[in-house]
Amino acid sequence: MIPYLPDLAERPVPRYTSYPTAAQFGSGVGAVEQRAALIRIAPGTAVSLYLHIPYCRQICWYCGCNTGAVRDEMTREGRLSAYVQALHAEIETVAPLMRGRVTGIQFGGGSPNSMPAAALCGIITDLWQQFDVAADAEIGVELDPRGLDGGYIASLAAVGVNRLSLGVQTLAPHVQAAINRIQPLGMIADAVRAARANGIAGINFDLMYGLPLQTNADLADTIAKALTLAPDRVAVFGYAHMPAMIARQRMIADAELPDAETRFTQSALAHAAFTEGGYVAIGFDHFARPDDPMAIAAAAGTLHRNFQGYATHPGEATIGLGATAISQFDDLIVQNDKHVAGWRNTVLAGGLAGVRGVARTADDRARGRIIERLLCDGFVDVGDDYPPAIEALRSYADAGLIRLEAGAVRLMPGGWPYARLIAAAFDAHFDGARHSKAI
Ligand code: SF4
Repeated sequence: MIPYLPDLAERPVPRYTSYPTAAQFGSGVGAVEQRAALIRIAPGTAVSLYLHIPYCRQICWYCGCNTGAVRDEMTREGRLSAYVQALHAEIETVAPLMRGRVTGIQFGGGSPNSMPAAALCGIITDLWQQFDVAADAEIGVELDPRGLDGGYIASLAAVGVNRLSLGVQTLAPHVQAAINRIQPLGMIADAVRAARANGIAGINFDLMYGLPLQTNADLADTIAKALTLAPDRVAVFGYAHMPAMIARQRMIADAELPDAETRFTQSALAHAAFTEGGYVAIGFDHFARPDDPMAIAAAAGTLHRNFQGYATHPGEATIGLGATAISQFDDLIVQNDKHVAGWRNTVLAGGLAGVRGVARTADDRARGRIIERLLCDGFVDVGDDYPPAIEALRSYADAGLIRLEAGAVRLMPGGWPYARLIAAAFDAHFDGARHSKAI
């Protein structure tokens, strides 16, 4: 039984895909620090690459990503080919600077499949040629099922893509209409079939709760239909409504949104449906089949968090390529220019495009490790080092959400939905503002 604690569920808190979080990024960090961090990567160090494609064919009203729509074919072709050319230039600059071994590559956005297959495959081929990519590297691409065909997926498989992440979100037609994302189940089933026929074994689905006009029955029906396609992993995110910061979300009326208690019920409903469906709950928002590498990593205590959420590959650094992409090193987090024109001009001139970020102190690294282990393992041993944090957690222990053991914090099963709030006790920068609700 997961307790509903309204005061906690409504509280804004970071997602902790990094520590410090993006709220602490400033302009004191940029390309100079980025170059030094790339050069410091020791030979053979496991590294992940993240490539950001900030374009979509159509914009979904709920989306908080840095992306834009290019509807006109001619304009789209021109913009995308300019973007692809700049990505190749950035790869050419970054690859010789760092000596790590690439164990994971992820394409996100936006919609990577807003690009023609030949362009996307050309970038992947370039990565294989210019970086030391491990033969068994996980190469994943986020795809918008709309407009996707089997030939596109076959092309990706041919250049080594072995994991696809499909944005499913909801299968209720009236909710799809309310979020400007119409995609019938058959479209997603076709993509899954094509992926499996081409030997792509790893299929992820992203689902959402808390969407406009979404009822509990809508969510249950979406999950039941998703289960018929047997995805290997599922992420279930709560819609974060922040129209003051994200203009496109103003298309969603506040009055159409489920209230806080319904959001909580929907989150619990998803948890029950997937675990009863044979999936292992991973962290606070993922589910995986027991034989999926993510479930295996979670059981082994080797799960990680990075800017894509939960991750299995042991990247000691993540290198972001593309406008707005974030690179994370042990002692530095740095974000590329989010303006496509600025990023493109810099990388075409042979420069690095980092413009903001944060240097990670020894204290940041220690707190970051604690937060990561809590959110991945539900357990962390902090010894005697953080008395104020332990004190702040006593009320969570009293509520039965955690157990405080000698020098350690253990999440109880009912505590997982509140995991980010519990982790926030170790966040020395957290000011409570500019974040989405805990649930
Ligand atoms: S949700 Fe995906 S497809 Fe929709 S606008 Fe955002 S990035 Fe584009």
